[in-house]
Amino acid sequence: MRDSCGGTIHRGRETHRRRGARIVKTLCRPRYTEVVVRFHAAFLSSYTLCALAFAPFAAAQIETAAAAVERLRESKLDPRECYRVRDIAFTAEDARFYLTDGYLIFRRPVNGVTVSALFSADTASGDGEVLLIPPHRSERISLASFTQSPTLNQHFKTALFVFSDGTGEELRRQVAATNARRAPEEGLLLAQRWDSTVQNIAASFTTRLVRDLLGTRRTENGFFYAAVSTPALGNFDLVIDPRARNQVTAGQISDRDGRSFFDLWMHFEARSFRDRRRQRDAIENKLSDYKLDVTLTPELGLKAVTEMTLTPAQTGERAAAFDISPRMRVTGASIDGKPVELFQREGVRANLIRGDDNELFLLVAPEELEAGRPYRVRIEHEGNVVTHAGNKVYYVASRGNWYPQGGLQFSTYETVFRYPKNLRLVSSGDLVEDATSGDTRITRRRAGSPIRLLGFNLGEYEQISTNRAGYLIDVYANKQFEAALTRVPMFAPLPAPFPRRNAVTRPELTPLPLPASPVERLKHVAGEVGAALEFMASRFGPPPLKTLTVSPIPGTFGQGFPGLLYLSTMAYLDPADRPWSQRSESHRLFFSELIHAHETAHQWWGNTVISAGYQDDWLQEALANYSAVMFLERRKGPRLLDAVLEDYKRHLLSKTPDGEEVQSVGPVTQGLRLQSSKNPDAWRTIMYEKGTWILHMLRRQLGDERFLALLADLTKRYRFAPLSTAAFQSAASEQMPATAPDRKLEAFFENWVYGTGVPALKVAHTVRGTAPRVRVTVTVTQTGVGDDFSVDVPVEIQIPRSRPVTRWVRTSNEPATIQLTAAAAPTRVVVDPGNSILKR
Ligand SMILES: [Zn+2]
Repeated sequence: MRDSCGGTIHRGRETHRRRGARIVKTLCRPRYTEVVVRFHAAFLSSYTLCALAFAPFAAAQIETAAAAVERLRESKLDPRECYRVRDIAFTAEDARFYLTDGYLIFRRPVNGVTVSALFSADTASGDGEVLLIPPHRSERISLASFTQSPTLNQHFKTALFVFSDGTGEELRRQVAATNARRAPEEGLLLAQRWDSTVQNIAASFTTRLVRDLLGTRRTENGFFYAAVSTPALGNFDLVIDPRARNQVTAGQISDRDGRSFFDLWMHFEARSFRDRRRQRDAIENKLSDYKLDVTLTPELGLKAVTEMTLTPAQTGERAAAFDISPRMRVTGASIDGKPVELFQREGVRANLIRGDDNELFLLVAPEELEAGRPYRVRIEHEGNVVTHAGNKVYYVASRGNWYPQGGLQFSTYETVFRYPKNLRLVSSGDLVEDATSGDTRITRRRAGSPIRLLGFNLGEYEQISTNRAGYLIDVYANKQFEAALTRVPMFAPLPAPFPRRNAVTRPELTPLPLPASPVERLKHVAGEVGAALEFMASRFGPPPLKTLTVSPIPGTFGQGFPGLLYLSTMAYLDPADRPWSQRSESHRLFFSELIHAHETAHQWWGNTVISAGYQDDWLQEALANYSAVMFLERRKGPRLLDAVLEDYKRHLLSKTPDGEEVQSVGPVTQGLRLQSSKNPDAWRTIMYEKGTWILHMLRRQLGDERFLALLADLTKRYRFAPLSTAAFQSAASEQMPATAPDRKLEAFFENWVYGTGVPALKVAHTVRGTAPRVRVTVTVTQTGVGDDFSVDVPVEIQIPRSRPVTRWVRTSNEPATIQLTAAAAPTRVVVDPGNSILKR
């Protein structure tokens, strides 16, 4: 899944530490990785293209994707097109390149278009330089955290460029304008040395190059890529892609503990988009009115026909691009009933980043597609996304990308599933028809309101249905526990006084029998989800769909799709029956208390209100989690809220393997970028748990009534629309009391949302004068944070025989002082009495 993750995922901490990152790549991989991962792919693999005999390019129009690929393969570094260059400079959005002194060699053009070049400054006086200054402070901080400098200004000896945006034409123009001398001998050496590397790297851009080469909007929609080899920072990559939500991406491949990461140094909207000279909406095609006809064979292989309406944003492109799970193979396609060429690359990524990254494929129409005209697209695809987890429990993989999509877009869905009649199959939408024919059960559903994702789940289920607040809640449980769970060593709980870790004092380990079936907890699960839905619908308005289906998934995570929840099978176990490894207080809070309500809350946060970009994903998680926490607080009392906040604080102040505090790894707005080689696992704690704290602090500043008004306002204003962090700040500040010290919430967002740090706070006070008129001076001192950290904290001054006075104090690196006059000397002065600040 790309962009912000509508279906959202989270898991128990321990499991997450082992596998979380990979799962998130599967489900929530944002679009920014698309191009860089493809590049990454080429570097990691030992993939080489088959050697093909040279054939001279023809300038005739390229008719098919296959022909374009063929010509790309034939294109090699051309020694005759090698030049001794001096003082060539060019700009790619925010980046400026200086080819000061060296050799520039072009690959042979493809249909007259130059799509790649190599610059080598491997001479005594040779030099190249790149300059890139991120426009935002947060990006400068991010860059500095990897490179020790807030701007990128690097000399280089080698740079490889791949482009479809017209940079080739620009370079050739400058070569001609500067009368650069041809250098075929040097060209021969460079070609020998670099050709296979250039081929490998360019190969990972094949689908994109094909798409751009087939249209007439190449220079406008085309991309620019540079692989730069620097003495100071090693190799890094820069991508500028107008089709991406944030067009400028720079970073570096890095390995840690056998895993490869693309460390994202910076990622931001390119200059021409910031200046509104270009608009992304003008590029993205619209997909709507999905119809899926899906057949699951007796072996549970999946074959499907997906139809949707494609409305191009622009005239001039012949290729329409779609994403799909690599578990799926596209076997045929048509547009308006006529078969079209299908282009899906194979093989390149086989030994790359493991897991379920999306594959990009193209449908190539015989003629240019027209802007605004609806085309009906039909795509046949098949693959294996259902795994048997034993005991007739099934696991659905590629839950968000098993059918073709193009960005996450809101659409209505009509579905028909045909599957073995001994199974139950659930998916989003209202039931239209359920019938059996021979050995096949046929279920039709319709999701009439727009949703962004259609998931399904299946098993040998028991079911109960309830009606709450006018909504139908269908809850399913497997009849048996999956094999992994029944094999997990389950140990009898130790008697209370024994320390858990001390193996010596452990009594004989005996397996604990599981309850007969997950069905025993079915009523409990239905009750939890029903109550949560009722609580939330009464505050946030209607969820996206009238039917909410809840179904189990093996593993320790949950996921909230529109109208369909996947709940960890752990949630179907009584806490006392869970495996020993899932029994910490954190696990108990997660699986017993939070998971049902959190996933239910995603009906609003993530599926009704959506993320504007990955920088805003934290909001959806924090809003879902805090909605769940408020629901539980209402039901079970404030101690549960305190327990959750304490647990999260402990995680945030714990240490990463490098000895850093988890909270200090980066701000919540970095989202999945926090998943870098520096700290592979801190992202979840920061996004979910610090996010929860941020909303808690905001609630304490606003008061309950205004805070709930804010949430209700967001679900109305941003119904089926993206919510950015900035828009959230603006909506929240509208609710701030007029007398609040930080009415626009500027300090609040700057420090808690866009910054890092958890302060320790100390308060002291002095008294002058005597009753009935004493002068009280209160001093708040903060430690444990950077010099620029500054937040508002409440101080309660308790005065005998009168109500306590609360004053807000803004902290800074100097002790902060306030003065007040009171009738008597205070008996006590307390900083943050209501636990409304994330502090040490
Ligand atoms: Zn979530």
